[in-house]
Amino acid sequence: MEVSYNALLTRATQTHRLEKHEIIRLLNARGEEERSLFAAADAVRADWVGDAVHLRGLIEFSNYCRNDCLYCGLRRSKQQLQRYRMEPGEILSVAKAGAKLGYRTIVLQSGDDWWYTSTKLAQLVEKIKRLDVAVTLSIGERTRAEYRDLRLAGADRYLLKQETSDPALYARLHPGQSYHHRRQCLEWLAELGYQVGSGTMVGLPGQTVETLADDLLFLQTQGVDMAGIGPFIPHPQTPLSCCPPGNTGQTLRTIAVARLLLPWAHLPATTALAALDKNGHRKGLAAGANVIMPDLTPQPYHGAYDIYPGKGAPLPADYHQAIRDLVRQAGRVVATTPGHSLKPVKSKDNRGEGTLDDL
Ligand code: SAH
Repeated sequence: MEVSYNALLTRATQTHRLEKHEIIRLLNARGEEERSLFAAADAVRADWVGDAVHLRGLIEFSNYCRNDCLYCGLRRSKQQLQRYRMEPGEILSVAKAGAKLGYRTIVLQSGDDWWYTSTKLAQLVEKIKRLDVAVTLSIGERTRAEYRDLRLAGADRYLLKQETSDPALYARLHPGQSYHHRRQCLEWLAELGYQVGSGTMVGLPGQTVETLADDLLFLQTQGVDMAGIGPFIPHPQTPLSCCPPGNTGQTLRTIAVARLLLPWAHLPATTALAALDKNGHRKGLAAGANVIMPDLTPQPYHGAYDIYPGKGAPLPADYHQAIRDLVRQAGRVVATTPGHSLKPVKSKDNRGEGTLDDL
């Protein structure tokens, strides 16, 4: 017998378990059904992570990359890009300015740039930690030893998006990279006690709603602490320039279902969503998100961190205040805490297995 849509949604808000075909049904919701999905995700968000929105200050410190991801405007073989590396001292000054602005987390992000050895980065992380902020790294694939050294230096969290859980699609989009190695990196990070974020891009060419459902189940099985879900935006100087972008609705539905499956998770209303839709931050916050990642990267670097069109657009003078205002206008409050993981802890090594049994 077919379960009614509303019964399915009610059960999801209570058990946080969904079969793949049920996830697909939610991802295909439109009109009234879509509105109920967003309302259910918003209620779960309020119950589990509250009204506080965590603002993570993002420093994009290098746009050099050793990888050649088909979708990315920083890909190695892209010639038309002014490459930059910020000096560690400069990165520290920006982090200080961010802490002064009230950011309780500093996110260090870059292309996969091994010019920054783990020794260099560990020294930097130690200094940033003295500012009484949490540190998130988003610097791609490294060895387990490097992850360990950076964790020992004080890094709290690590973002490494799987981008897609489909191994064949992953292989097509990431020449020279390994789907299994990326998963291995996620395992290492969890073992080392990082709060781990992964995530997915919505609307990648070759992706179907089935793939997206698998992506969501992947995030749940991994028991991630955070999940970044944003639309694919074609970059004109990449091999995917002619592909259509992901859309706002599908991205919001994916965030909403992620909230149902991972009620504890920190879920950003992503920058890519805001680049695609001028109301993206507000819409994301209303569909289950509880994080925004404002950009601290100074010019001229900001403009050259050209992952997708719109990413490097100049920021208005009142940018940081405007984000705080947006949070309040959404009926929420800006968090004053660092916003560490809220995932229920089971095992002492924080690996996150079996998390749903602990709810
Ligand atoms: N080198 C690091 C950081 C990657 S950049 C790493 O590999 O983890 C951060 C994110 O930008 C990526 O994880 C990807 O999800 C996103 N991104 C890259 N190109 C994009 C595009 N064309 N549209 C939307 N998001 C994109």
